[in-house]
Amino acid sequence: MSMKKFSLVIVLFLLGLTMSRVVDVWAEEPTIAAQNSTTATSKFFDAHVHFQDCKVGDLEKIVEWMKSNNVQRVINHPLAQSRPKNETERTQMLANYANYQGRIDRFCIIFPEEVNSVEEAVKILTREKKDGAIGFGEHYGVNMNFDDPKNMRLFEAGSLVGLPVMFHMDQNKNLDEIGFPRLQNALKTYPKLIFIAHSDWWKRLGDGSCEKLLQNYPNLYADISCTVGRSAIGRDKAMAREFFIRNADKLLFATDSGWWSLGNVKKQAGEFSLIDELKLPKDVEDKICRGNAERLFWNKNLPSSPTK
Ligand SMILES: [Zn+2]
Repeated sequence: MSMKKFSLVIVLFLLGLTMSRVVDVWAEEPTIAAQNSTTATSKFFDAHVHFQDCKVGDLEKIVEWMKSNNVQRVINHPLAQSRPKNETERTQMLANYANYQGRIDRFCIIFPEEVNSVEEAVKILTREKKDGAIGFGEHYGVNMNFDDPKNMRLFEAGSLVGLPVMFHMDQNKNLDEIGFPRLQNALKTYPKLIFIAHSDWWKRLGDGSCEKLLQNYPNLYADISCTVGRSAIGRDKAMAREFFIRNADKLLFATDSGWWSLGNVKKQAGEFSLIDELKLPKDVEDKICRGNAERLFWNKNLPSSPTK
C-alpha cells in the first residue's frame, strides 16, 4: 500500500470512529449495557425482593423501583404466586433475566411436598442453577419443623448442587424452639450449605440466640429484612449499631420489598432509612450493603475478617 493510500485509510478510519461516537451521543434509547452499568451513587445490593418476573416488561418495573430506591443490584425470590406456572412462562422469565445480567438475579424454589427424594430435588436444582439461579428460596416449610425430613432432603440437595438457601420462619413455618436446636441440626448436618436467616428468626435477638448462632456457624448468615418491624433493631438504634458492627461479615442488606411496593415510594421498607440512621463505619456499611453479597453470590474476593 502506498503512503498516500495508507494515510487515506487512516483518515477514513478516524472519521468513522468520530461518527460512531456522534451517533452514540444522539441515540435516545439507552442500550441494555448502559442500563446495566453500575453507578457510583447506588448504595444498596438488596438480597431479598419479590417481584413478578414471568411476563414481558416485568423486570423493567424492578429497574424503575431500583432507581427510585438507590439500589444497584437485587436478588429476586419467587413465591407461590410469582414463580413460573409452565414452561412457556419459564422461558419468558429466563429471557427477561438475560437482559439484566449483573443487576437482577434470581433464586428458585421447590416446595417440600413436590419431590419424593433428594435425587429429584437435585435434578430440579441442577437445571435451575444451569439456567442462572444463584440460590434456593424463599423457603417456607409450612407446618413443618425446621429439620423435618422433607426439609432436610431439600437442604441436602441445595448442599450437593451448591445453592445457598434463604428461609422464612414464623409461627407455622420452619418451626423451631428456644435456642434454635432444629436450625442448628440442619447447620451441622450440611456444613457446606449456606443458610440465610430472615423474618421471625430475628425475634430471638433479645435472648442472644441469633448472635450466638451467627458467631458459631460459618455457614449461617442473616438478611436484615424484617428487622425494623419485628425485632429490637428498629427500636434500639444504639444496640443495632453495635450488633451490626460485631456481625458485619454475616449480614446482608435486604428489604423484602415486592410487587406490593411498586408505585409506593412512601411505604419504603424501613431498612433503607435504618442504614442511614445507624451511621456505621464505612467498611461495615460496605460489607453489609454490598460486599457480603458479592462474596457469597458472585465470588468476589473481598477482604473480610472471620467472625470471632
Ligand atoms: Zn420475603
